[in-house]
Amino acid sequence: MPYKDPEKRKECTKRWKQEHPQRVKELNEKSRKKCREHVLSYRRKYSKRPLCKRKQALSMRRRSYERRMQIIALLGGKCKCGFSDPRALQIDHVNGHGNKEKREAGSTITYYNRILKRIKEGSKDYQVLCANCNWIKRHEMREVAWKYEQ
Ligand SMILES: [Zn+2]
Repeated sequence: MPYKDPEKRKECTKRWKQEHPQRVKELNEKSRKKCREHVLSYRRKYSKRPLCKRKQALSMRRRSYERRMQIIALLGGKCKCGFSDPRALQIDHVNGHGNKEKREAGSTITYYNRILKRIKEGSKDYQVLCANCNWIKRHEMREVAWKYEQ
């Protein structure tokens, strides 16, 4: 080591850095890349742990809950019968096909995102119904159980 005194060593490093700006830049980039790779490999490793997965699932559920509340608020926040407790409000597709759309979307959050986008674009295909009105509508529209009612 050229300098035992830490102060002098510091001086020397500083001087060297001033004399070789290009080299400093290269070294910085290298270490940044290395650090990034490390972070990524760490993430890959730990994102597979059960606890982490559980947290991911929870955050997914929370996000889709937030989306749902957003949609309900956009659609007026209450059923046509006056019921307004969001715990039993459902987003209904006016013309049915809600299930098909949900299947096509693949995940709840994608499904909600699509609905949100359409509503913002001015779509009138969706409405908020309470659970009771929704089931009654499904029966009336013959979306369910029509085989058993005849
Ligand atoms: Zn209702």
